Amino acid sequence: MEALRASREIMAPADWQRIDFISDLHLAEDTPKGFNAWRGYLLNTTADAVFILGDLFEAWVGDDARFEGFEARGAAVLSAAAADRKLFFMVGNRDFLLGAEMLAACSVEALPDPTALCAFDQRVLLTHGDAWCLGDLPYQAFRAQVRNPAWQAQVLARPLAERRLMARSLRSESERAATEHGGVWFDVDAPTALRAMDENNAPTLVHGHTHRPTTEALAPGRVRHVLSDWTLDHGRDHNHAPRAEVMRFEDGRWTRLAPADAVASGT
Ligand code: MN
Repeated sequence: MEALRASREIMAPADWQRIDFISDLHLAEDTPKGFNAWRGYLLNTTADAVFILGDLFEAWVGDDARFEGFEARGAAVLSAAAADRKLFFMVGNRDFLLGAEMLAACSVEALPDPTALCAFDQRVLLTHGDAWCLGDLPYQAFRAQVRNPAWQAQVLARPLAERRLMARSLRSESERAATEHGGVWFDVDAPTALRAMDENNAPTLVHGHTHRPTTEALAPGRVRHVLSDWTLDHGRDHNHAPRAEVMRFEDGRWTRLAPADAVASGT
């Protein structure tokens, strides 16, 4: 496992009043409701900065995919939104191939995992979450492979069309594996999370990945906010109603908002 100490620390400028966090939107060609909700939210949020903490996209096959189709529409939304507020992006376990080229083209700043954020006189630790799901041994082996720079270079050297096919078969493989797990799911390892919070002197942790949105104390005085997934298109595939949520940090207080409630109302 990688270091628990954040290699990057972001100091929120004093004039930031609101900071939003989203993750696990899993946007794709076949999630038009999610995409439209995300676009409406990101272009109009009243936040000074938005931290996208991984799995914005269901798959990402390389930054050279950004010139056409769904990826081009995603890039256009990021670019337009970045003109009016600061955008940060951390990769997740689905869009881990989204890289510096795409982010630079869209004026989005890359975040290492984990990253520390200082805002409203508080220290907050940010992670996608998959790296600390230590109980899922097959996934951790897969992760070690696909995060290897040599493996990534080899994959990115293949033709774009071939990579799109690969992504499709990986997706059906992960759906099959999820079914075979028979409802077993892996949470972030709590001792690891607490150690990371200690090492970064951050009493608050924000992560996504598990699709189990909650706010809870991992230990006295140490709180984690687990971000919601966005399931507006696939509600019936899940054991819950369609949902989408933005976590907002405003004047040192945390609130969960529907995307439509995070935007300027015009009143
Ligand atoms: Mn994830």
